[in-house]
Amino acid sequence: MKTIHAEIEKLINDQINLELHSANQYLCMASHFIDEELAGIGNFFLIQSQEENMHALKQYNYLHNIGGKFRLGDLKAPDQNFKGDYKSVFEKALELELRVTRSIYNIVDKAQQHKDFATYTFFEWFVTEQVEEESTLRKLIKKLEMIGSNTSALFLFDQELGGRKSGANLA
Ligand code: MG
Repeated sequence: MKTIHAEIEKLINDQINLELHSANQYLCMASHFIDEELAGIGNFFLIQSQEENMHALKQYNYLHNIGGKFRLGDLKAPDQNFKGDYKSVFEKALELELRVTRSIYNIVDKAQQHKDFATYTFFEWFVTEQVEEESTLRKLIKKLEMIGSNTSALFLFDQELGGRKSGANLA
């Protein structure tokens, strides 16, 4: 017997699909920078992509633990045409994270309405995680503003991001 509310099951499924979309979007951003000979920044986005896949898996496991079933939707192809400066790619990444945050807030809100305290508590971790994600990207955007067209500074920035290990807090 299912104990999970149909609306919550749908919302978690949407969330997993959004995390997978994010993982794909970051994979494309990584490719853009690797192609620009900025492998350090590429590394940053590859790790971002891995993290989004991990988020999707965490939620996938949780969904099954509460008796739900996963449904993969039609994943929209991510943006792959990165015109403009490097900063604008990071701004796009921040926009995506803001969308993820809104989606998580909605789940927490609905979980509370349905008195689904298990889902509420599970997604609290993601609320905190989003603060981290947004903060990291905002700091990197600020750094890129300072770098401007200074190529030596960009070289150092690329090196710094190349040193990012999985899970490490960068900025
Ligand atoms: Mg995520």
